[in-house]
Amino acid sequence: MQLRDSDHFSLIGAGLAGPVMATYLSQLGYPVDIYESRSDMRVNSQSAGRSINLALSQRGIRALKDIGAFKKIKSSLIPMNGRMIHDADGNIHLQPYGQKKNEVIYSVSRSKLNKSLMDHAEGKENVNFHFNYDLRDIDFQNSKLNFQNKNIPFRRVLGSDGASSKVRASISKDSDIHFSKRPLGHGYKELTIPPNNSTGFQLDQNALHIWPRGQFMLIALPNFDQSFTCTLFLPMDGDNSFTSLNSEKKVVDFFKNYFPDAEELIPNLSDEYHKRPVGKLATIYCDKWHYGGIAAIFGDAAHAIVPFFGQGMNASLQDCTVMNSLVEEYEGDWDVIFSKFSDNQVPNGYAIADMALENYIEMRDSVNDQKYKIKRQLEFDLENKFWDRFVPRYSMVSFYELPYSEVYRRGEIQFKLIDSFIEGIITKKKLYADIENKLSPIR
Ligand code: FAD
Repeated sequence: MQLRDSDHFSLIGAGLAGPVMATYLSQLGYPVDIYESRSDMRVNSQSAGRSINLALSQRGIRALKDIGAFKKIKSSLIPMNGRMIHDADGNIHLQPYGQKKNEVIYSVSRSKLNKSLMDHAEGKENVNFHFNYDLRDIDFQNSKLNFQNKNIPFRRVLGSDGASSKVRASISKDSDIHFSKRPLGHGYKELTIPPNNSTGFQLDQNALHIWPRGQFMLIALPNFDQSFTCTLFLPMDGDNSFTSLNSEKKVVDFFKNYFPDAEELIPNLSDEYHKRPVGKLATIYCDKWHYGGIAAIFGDAAHAIVPFFGQGMNASLQDCTVMNSLVEEYEGDWDVIFSKFSDNQVPNGYAIADMALENYIEMRDSVNDQKYKIKRQLEFDLENKFWDRFVPRYSMVSFYELPYSEVYRRGEIQFKLIDSFIEGIITKKKLYADIENKLSPIR
């Protein structure tokens, strides 16, 4: 491997995406210094950030495989075959994510994954980590990174410093990038279903559990220690909101009323509820992800999204894969690499942001509705018949690497065809003909 010392990268943020991008670059011979505002989570046991566990799917797996990190993390993954719906009457049923054996998503511990990715990147001789380096802003005129305590010169900067990115803010001060933050108005709180002493997992461990209740929902993902992390998603204000659930009694009554089967499994419900912070949710839309050939942003810094498609991390890792292939293709031409990266990925960021918002309504409301179930079955039937043309949108997002903007485009065509057929506007013959005409083969 040729060491490309002349191009040095300062990468801000050692969350989930930063170490992956650093490893990709190091594999191509580029030295990378990573600056992280927190202390080293491998040394100081502290929360690794927001959610306790995450759903990992194809786009993320692809990046982990490319950098040689997948084997190490594989044994810590718990496959989830589908959504286990817990309805208001206490009945449960499984809605599979896909139809093929390998069409599953995986629950993984955020902290375990983050630590493992840091170890993996640090194992490369040209990657160095610097902890407790909190970036304040970037002085592009004098090529200086201004940290809380010192200024450090840079050659090229990559920003994976999350939703409140200082790299993004600094670029936008100096250039024509625009971003906006749209709060969802709903937040989340995590709670725990501990393992049972005799049976271990208290719910089916190979499913993502959902209690859909219209304006709000509870979900639960399995952990390796046989517990489940539940996430309660609620409006911030109004009836049944984080503001209105302001006493022990109200919380317990709320759970007994809406989630009685879950309430029985969370032993310290009101204690945990009051101790845990409320996380706020928002979408970041950013129309350009680079500053010439000098700086680029990726991951949540470029496209923080709401978590309802389980794609934020997966999208962030796909950014790394896309950047890597551009670096290989346009070796050393950073103006071209960064501008192509931005041109490719901005529409994908918008598309997954919108699909994630749409999925909130699907998860909290539609999943248990008869019409939704009929449409879902029809999607699977059409996939069986037109396996290379008609792939359900959920599958395209989770089990394929097709750009999200293309997934969105195809998804819109598919949804329209399905609606028209179900409403009797088009015949089966026309449905089949339109699939052949409007959807090109994707493999
Ligand atoms: P982050 O992981 O946020 O990392 C940013 C890093 O930058 C952090 O280490 C931070 O300390 C550091 N940093 C910040 N500011 C500075 C600074 N000024 N100077 C230096 N360092 C700084 N995604 C999925 O794919 N599947 C899921 O199931 C899923 N579930 C989620 C559930 C919830 C409740 C939430 C909130 C998110 C979920 N996500 C999920 C999204 C996922 O967490 C993010 O998309 C992912 O963490 C993005 O990675 P990142 O590296 O870009 O940002």
